[in-house]
Amino acid sequence: MSRTPRIESVGDHLGWSYANLARADAALQQGCSSYNRTHNIIRTRLFYGLKKGTMKVRSLYDDERIKMKVPQACCYCGSTSNLSIDHLMPRISNGNDESSNLIWACRSCNSSKQGRDMLDWMKRKDRFPAVLLLRRYLKLVLRYCDELDLLELPLPEAMDRELPFELSLIPHSFPPLAELCLWIYPENSSTCQGNSGDTERIRLR
Ligand SMILES: [Zn+2]
Repeated sequence: MSRTPRIESVGDHLGWSYANLARADAALQQGCSSYNRTHNIIRTRLFYGLKKGTMKVRSLYDDERIKMKVPQACCYCGSTSNLSIDHLMPRISNGNDESSNLIWACRSCNSSKQGRDMLDWMKRKDRFPAVLLLRRYLKLVLRYCDELDLLELPLPEAMDRELPFELSLIPHSFPPLAELCLWIYPENSSTCQGNSGDTERIRLR
């Protein structure tokens, strides 16, 4: 199997991003500084499992559970002051008021992001979301595409559509593990300091 599969449909595109996310998640949870063979197998199996329908993206239950466990802080910068609720999928783009779409954000991030797509907003700020925030976001995007029967749609066709997220910004390649973090805690508010210590502070599984 080739390392990078052929990406033809929306489902392939999202599935490959989700599989890469699972690889990063596994490596970070284990405190690894580089990917090993097992991480690559996780990615490949998940991608082809999702494609063939033998595997499913897990529900948002895990993400909701984590939300209750982590300290209340801005999901983008870790600030604990002036918190407000942010719609991960913006209201202006039909994002709903369900808990799965609601996260903490400080007023500064909230007003800077406004109605923008999260990945678009973060890209402008030259930042990459925490892995578990991206996971929630991807699950919402996958759910949206599933409900509208978009997963089988050829990717170029979907790129031309008006969607409540930037399909072209859904990442396939991630920053190096040292620059990724599972979650942004209040202590590392200004930058994402990588994986050290995150899992010690709170078990995110
Ligand atoms: Zn913030």
